[in-house]
Amino acid sequence: MILDGKKLSKSKKQEFKTTVESLKDKTGRAPSLHVVLVGGDPASQVYVGHKEKLCQSVGVTSVVHRLESTVEAQDLKKLIESLNLDDEVDGILVQLPMPEALKKFDPLKYIDTKKDVDGLSSLNMGLMIKNQAYAEPCTPKGVIELLKANKIKIEGLKAAVIGRSEIVGWPMAWMLTRENATVTVCHSKTRNIDEILKSSDLIIAAAGRPHFVNKDMLKINAVVVDVGIHRGESGKLIGDVNPEGFSEKNITYSPVPGGVGPMTVATLVENLIGLYIIKTKEISSCV
Ligand code: NAP
Repeated sequence: MILDGKKLSKSKKQEFKTTVESLKDKTGRAPSLHVVLVGGDPASQVYVGHKEKLCQSVGVTSVVHRLESTVEAQDLKKLIESLNLDDEVDGILVQLPMPEALKKFDPLKYIDTKKDVDGLSSLNMGLMIKNQAYAEPCTPKGVIELLKANKIKIEGLKAAVIGRSEIVGWPMAWMLTRENATVTVCHSKTRNIDEILKSSDLIIAAAGRPHFVNKDMLKINAVVVDVGIHRGESGKLIGDVNPEGFSEKNITYSPVPGGVGPMTVATLVENLIGLYIIKTKEISSCV
């Protein structure tokens, strides 16, 4: 079976449109997303383009602040702080990674927790453990939605997450644990990764290594979600998983492209709408 993220995100688009319309009727304006893009990283430009496109198609206001890679950290901080103070800004996203010169600058530290649409700030990550985050990280949240929409029962599964990054691996491991899976987190120092994968019912591949996982590493009937995105030699997009021969083992998997990528973008819009709803409720409870 294919875990089709493209199809699922399309079906969510209609839901978003309806919700945004009704929010507009109630509040007089649509939720607004402000994206800060520093430098000209080609992959980041493409990701930001996808986000803008989905926002526009569901009636959400989106503004992209494009800054030169030579921007001073202080100026970037000032921009984030001004967006924090602007009542008409509901979600702020700083597209990562930062250019080399700003690698030590952590923009997430300055984003207002209630506008942190990516859910990656320290406070939202901490609140997530208490199930109280304003927004949760988009990619792992999108993976959980993709699994649930395809009726994969997570509870009781033996799961392996390959990768322990703050953006994907760690929050993914937590979310699967919350769904009552038993999770092993693998990383570059993990020994016998093949044995761990072979005994897992569910594998989330987020190592950032092209075609790292193949059919020989998996058991029959395994479910594999591929988070990786790479440009293959032929120029085509490929993932961390090589799906060749998966049908022989009845493996369920998410394709690249068309799996996790569209779910990440859809979840971003879902998070933005969620933040706007929290904000409007807080305002109406004060008047
Ligand atoms: P990252 O920060 O580079 O983290 C990679 C993780 O994989 C690290 O924890 C690393 O271990 C682990 N790893 C690397 N090589 C390994 C190996 N040989 N065996 C086991 N573990 C290994 O990457 P990321 O930001 O999490 O992203 C991962 C991939 O997902 C990338 O391809 C990225 O482009 C993609 N991505 C896709 C989406 C989407 O929407 N589809 C969103 C975000 C990211 P150590 O901690 O020991 O170094």
